[in-house]
Amino acid sequence: MAPATGMQPPYLSLWRWAAATPCHNAMAAATAFFHNYGGCITSAETVMLEKQSLDEFLLNISRGKAVIVSLSPQSRASLAAHFGMSPLKVFKKLTTLFKSLGVKAVFDTSCSRDLTLVESCNEFITRYRQCHSADEQKSNVALPMIASACPGWICYAEKTLGSYILPYISTVKSPQQAMGVIIKKHMCHLLSLRPEDLYHVTVMPCYDKKLEASRDDFVFEVNPQGEQISEVDSVLTTGEVLDLIQLKSIDFLSLEDSPLDKLLSNVNDDGNLYGTTGSSGGYAETIFRYAAKVLFRKEIEGSLDFKVLRNSDFQEVSMELDGETVLKFALCYGFRNLQNVVRKIKTGKCEYQFLEIMACPSGCLNGGGQLKPKPGQSGKDLLQLLESTYLENVLVTDPYTNPIIKNLYEKWLEEPGSEKAKRHMHTQYHPVVKSITSQLQNW
Ligand code: SF4
Repeated sequence: MAPATGMQPPYLSLWRWAAATPCHNAMAAATAFFHNYGGCITSAETVMLEKQSLDEFLLNISRGKAVIVSLSPQSRASLAAHFGMSPLKVFKKLTTLFKSLGVKAVFDTSCSRDLTLVESCNEFITRYRQCHSADEQKSNVALPMIASACPGWICYAEKTLGSYILPYISTVKSPQQAMGVIIKKHMCHLLSLRPEDLYHVTVMPCYDKKLEASRDDFVFEVNPQGEQISEVDSVLTTGEVLDLIQLKSIDFLSLEDSPLDKLLSNVNDDGNLYGTTGSSGGYAETIFRYAAKVLFRKEIEGSLDFKVLRNSDFQEVSMELDGETVLKFALCYGFRNLQNVVRKIKTGKCEYQFLEIMACPSGCLNGGGQLKPKPGQSGKDLLQLLESTYLENVLVTDPYTNPIIKNLYEKWLEEPGSEKAKRHMHTQYHPVVKSITSQLQNW
């Protein structure tokens, strides 16, 4: 079965994900999604998406813009598995490659992810306390809090589920958008650059990140004339970076290693990478540990004991005190699982306080923009390789100890959840009302 002729980019995005994913339920889930999803993309979004290509990236370098690339750890792992080298080596070689094309700096979104994790921890504690207080504010907040880093999930929630689900979604921006804000609203001033002279490109594991970058919520005015620019100008998938390597006939294995740009990269003084565990961001794990410490004064040593439920993409972790379950979080990946959990929220039967929802089965390492298995390699084998490569020689750290993040709060954002942090690092969601035409099509 093929997507209908004339399908718009977001449909293609999900379709590509479904086609590329080893899970045979994905195509069925995607088909159901398309059926419910009709006619919601705006022409402005379509134009924005068309601008997010390799050609545009190269064109903006030739136009003399100060181009900055931010690389996701999932894309780094995908290229590392493909070329049989460590993520650190890939990062150094990609820095050489991009800089040889004229890129000014190459950063790492593990760094901005630490900031979003700190903001998410703070948001969870605030929601939890409000929900458990006798205060009238209680009715304005909602648990479970749902992670907001996956645009595939956000798009589905806004366009298919509508207003009842949106208050549950964390207002914290994704690592991609947080990086955009840090670069265009803070770093550029430190570097004496105008934000409109920067062109910020991210390298991401999925096409849905292109949609995210093109949201109206993620543009801002730069002058009194009302000129607007985007936090992230363009998104390249991991596959498009491999296309670039092939297009330029580059022998990637023989490229020299370049020193890394440490300003916004999780690289310590010894030159090692660091960050959180969790190949889809580590939201559930980080917030669980923080909540145990702050709400119940329990430091959790060692790894968390996630229990697999109906499949490996649906896992929960809980904490008991005096025989009572005080914390219960879940990882919920793939459309089938998320549809089930969303149904429980709607009927008031969801027992979780936090949900790390991701649209792709197996999460972000398995995104539709990642490199495909090599001939003779199964999707499952590739995924296992990616999972081990992802944290190869990466020091696992607590985001609260990240010196770059501490500095951003000290010099700019003040403290987690401050007015400044809310203005720059949080967003909002909008239910999309289906057009009459699409409703008639579905009828
Ligand atoms: S789960 Fe898939 S769609 Fe969602 S952010 Fe990760 S790669 Fe993208």
